[in-house]
Amino acid sequence: MTILENVLKDNKEFVENFEGTEMSHHAAKKLAILTCMDCRLIDFFEPALGLKRGDAKIVRNAGNSIVGEDAIRSIGAALYNLGAEEVMVVGHTECGMAGADAEALKEKMIARGIKEEDIAKYDLAQWIG
Ligand SMILES: [Zn+2]
Repeated sequence: MTILENVLKDNKEFVENFEGTEMSHHAAKKLAILTCMDCRLIDFFEPALGLKRGDAKIVRNAGNSIVGEDAIRSIGAALYNLGAEEVMVVGHTECGMAGADAEALKEKMIARGIKEEDIAKYDLAQWIG
């Protein structure tokens, strides 16, 4: 069974047992947070900040970086359309993006078939802090 098939199986079981509740699209604590996508933060980050489902808009990306349109668009949507009034940027220790080598990352992308012009289009140098 592939990873995707396992995820779909788990999701099917979850949906069958899920009892939905009405919730607002707005963050109950009027908070937007930008943080890292590090998988070690799952089931850890929110409890560490006393947050529950519905409390905050949480944007996750590589290395909790604000460069790039997606992070800015998401924070803007949280502030101007989804009820957030404050923004927090939360980093963490031992981030996988700390000290990342832009050239090595570019070589890996090319090895997987991404064209150099597409890498340049997204200005890879901005991604690595
Ligand atoms: Zn990180």
